[in-house]
Amino acid sequence: MKITAIRAYHVALPYVGGTYSWSGGYSVSEALSTVVEVETDAGITGYGESCPLPNYLQAYGEGVPKGVETLGAALIGADPRELDRINRLMDRTIIGHTYAKSPIDVACWDILGKACGLPVYTLLGGRFHDAMPMYRAVPQRQPDEMAGLAAEFRAEGYRQFQLKSGGAPADEIARIRAVADSLEPGEILIADANRGWTREGALRVARAVADVDVIFEQPCDGYDACRSVRRRIGHAVKLDECITDMTVLQRAIADDALDMLSVKISRFGGLTAARRIRDMCTAAEIEMTVEDVWGGAVVSAAVAHLAASTQPEVMKNTTDLHNYNTVHFASDAPDVRDGCLVPPERPGLGVTPDMDVLGAPLFEIT
Ligand code: MG
Repeated sequence: MKITAIRAYHVALPYVGGTYSWSGGYSVSEALSTVVEVETDAGITGYGESCPLPNYLQAYGEGVPKGVETLGAALIGADPRELDRINRLMDRTIIGHTYAKSPIDVACWDILGKACGLPVYTLLGGRFHDAMPMYRAVPQRQPDEMAGLAAEFRAEGYRQFQLKSGGAPADEIARIRAVADSLEPGEILIADANRGWTREGALRVARAVADVDVIFEQPCDGYDACRSVRRRIGHAVKLDECITDMTVLQRAIADDALDMLSVKISRFGGLTAARRIRDMCTAAEIEMTVEDVWGGAVVSAAVAHLAASTQPEVMKNTTDLHNYNTVHFASDAPDVRDGCLVPPERPGLGVTPDMDVLGAPLFEIT
């Protein structure tokens, strides 16, 4: 089987809640997603998607199509089922830029699944879950507003709440307390600072909420600062932005620097790389949020397959990013049931974009 054409499409995804705000004064009301279509000489077409947020990771949303265009030119004629060969070709064409490689890698997994007649989760190790518990991100607002949003999300079935935190310590202490006081038994609270605190700020918040059952996510910018905080607080620490590849994760495991990891597929460059990260965390007994930065139905499908094939002891939660948007470009996006994400059972990713919504391609490589 050979890749014969690669196309990219832009789709704007307005946030369902108006403005989504996180630490550092950052916010987004509409994200720009790139959907990639990989066509083969076998009549099989695969889809991937990448949707970076501005100033969130070392990723540039406007750069995704250009990266895909350059990478795609190196892949025409390659066999999309040979995922390690595809990734090596991409790595030899551009160093880094995982967010541009991810949609191509995911599209090739979609093709492999369709060629085998199997859902991607089977190829990633097998299905461990009928449906996977999800968290819901609560954008940064006033404390009582955040507690109100958590109540709305609870009514939709979510039992895990990730507060967008990382602001001034006094404000964050109030936010954490307000939402923690509103929780029902068994619910899980995460304060995601998104790199927003200094070491001292993180320690100040942790000491003030020492009695609260809350997970601290990416408290500081750098790895060393996060590790320092992890060693000095009693709360579990989840890392996200600073774990960028396998070598950093190896070091973090050896340093005992994390209790949880956010496994964002596009941060690592696709399902091929994210699966390795997932397996390292499984071996080290580190729980995971299986997710991506942002996106629509294709991102959610890739997330669902990786989450479904992750062992239950370490699969803390996942997310339904397509439900964060008011624009939907696939009618067969993963189902959501009682706050849980259901993986599609069709071959490949099991999601087919509606080309009428995506419109004309930005380019076509043949
Ligand atoms: Mg995070």
